Amino acid sequence: MQSGPGPVSGVSIIGVEMTNKTLTMNDALYTYLLSVSLRESGILRRLRAETAADAMARMQSAPEQGQFMALLVQLLGARRCLEVGVYTGYSTLWVAQALPPDGRIVACDISEEWTSIARRYWAEAGVADRIDLRLAPALESLQGLIGAGQAGSFDFAFIDADKENYGNYYEAVLQLLRPGGLLAIDNTLWSGDVADPEKQDADTRAIRALNQHVHADRRVTMSLLPVADGLTLALKGQT
Ligand code: SAM
Ligand code: CA
Repeated sequence: MQSGPGPVSGVSIIGVEMTNKTLTMNDALYTYLLSVSLRESGILRRLRAETAADAMARMQSAPEQGQFMALLVQLLGARRCLEVGVYTGYSTLWVAQALPPDGRIVACDISEEWTSIARRYWAEAGVADRIDLRLAPALESLQGLIGAGQAGSFDFAFIDADKENYGNYYEAVLQLLRPGGLLAIDNTLWSGDVADPEKQDADTRAIRALNQHVHADRRVTMSLLPVADGLTLALKGQT
């Protein structure tokens, strides 16, 4: 195993010199982390295994992230959840299994093909009745919820779809959350590309813009966590 955090000297944070205290996660340490923390159900494991054969499998959330979001859902006592970007339904299933029987998650995607895999596993897990899948461009689904008078009614939301729309999703989801509701935004470190000035593709620019926007947004209490590919948490304020 490599030696621990690999401190980087000369990092200046708001004018104060310090070392980077975030651990570099090599494979041995990651395997260890999972061995002493992951509690993935058999059905989640099988869904992960089936998805691994798909060409886009890298889109699936990491298991420890799914487990962490399930913990957040429990911590909030969430009953109404929202997901933007379902793919094969792995993160949806983690959240659905953490909900009480009368809990609901509105899950938004455009892919009939990928979500048909999701539906099979949701049914097998006995949580299909908790999941309201909306197959349409997510912005339309979110606007539809707002139009149906559901603003301010969701406890937890996860944004994990097309990155160019992240700014639009953020504003719509913030309207849909109740005061004290929690938003999780995935891939906010984008494989490190956000910190590489040479990376100027549309997705990277959109994530950078969103990161700056959330950081400056006093409507939320926020934190960007170095979990998996970067996970931003934003808690909607009471006013
Ligand atoms: N949350 C999933 C998980 O953890 O397994 C991964 C979601 S994957 C990164 C992104 C998903 O966003 C894909 O399933 C894709 O079909 C969906 N997507 C892309 N553009 C979309 C749009 N405009 N509206 C709704 N869904 C979209
Ligand atoms: Ca993701």
